[in-house]
Amino acid sequence: MNETGYTDARRKMVESQLRARGIHDPDVLRVMEEVPRHLFVPQDLANQAYDDRPLDIGAGQTISQPYMVALMTELLAVEPHHRVLEVGTGSGYQAAILAALAREVITIERYEDLAQEAAQRLRGAGCGNVRVLVGDGSAGAPDHAPFDRIIVTAASPSVPPSLKEQLAAEGRLVCPVGARHAQKLIVVDRGDGVFEESEGVGCVFVPLLGKEGWSEDD
Ligand code: SAM
Repeated sequence: MNETGYTDARRKMVESQLRARGIHDPDVLRVMEEVPRHLFVPQDLANQAYDDRPLDIGAGQTISQPYMVALMTELLAVEPHHRVLEVGTGSGYQAAILAALAREVITIERYEDLAQEAAQRLRGAGCGNVRVLVGDGSAGAPDHAPFDRIIVTAASPSVPPSLKEQLAAEGRLVCPVGARHAQKLIVVDRGDGVFEESEGVGCVFVPLLGKEGWSEDD
């Protein structure tokens, strides 16, 4: 597929997979139409980058379905002055979407190879406001906290307490929470001294493996 083909595929993805299913934030729709998802998947899968499904990116991990990326981004309600933490860099695609909406994005990945590839793709895509870290993001990134927004793109048995603590005042966190093979999207808002949680749609993510997520033996 050539560049015109990818641009066309992206436009169709936004109309048929996102707008038709209720994604309505104009900034989210705009960045989903702008960011070249095909640059964030392995080269032999580039022609499938705009399909309505997750794709394998190596190390047993996936780039999430476009609809899930858009839905989580819409729920996160990112504003241009925000500092955002993403846990689970994977391909770097979600970080690129966030980078187009926020002031700064810190993203953390436990697999060094994936983190390095993602950092390279993000540089190639001109995302100068993203920093990729390697480590266990289930405990967040305390040296860089607080964050206005935190998004977890792997599934956790419960919302990691460290992530809640690293939310700024009026901060918001979105995380898939539940059993190992089926979760719900949970939104946590940090209000005046209290955390409010609400439960959203069902989803299936690869596990968040780490101190405040699943253990490798679970
Ligand atoms: N956001 C990614 C993207 O746009 O491609 C997709 C993320 S993929 C569904 C989940 C990622 O979370 C995997 O790359 C996995 O290695 C990573 N992960 C799992 N546990 C982690 C942890 N404790 N800390 C950081 N990353 C973790």
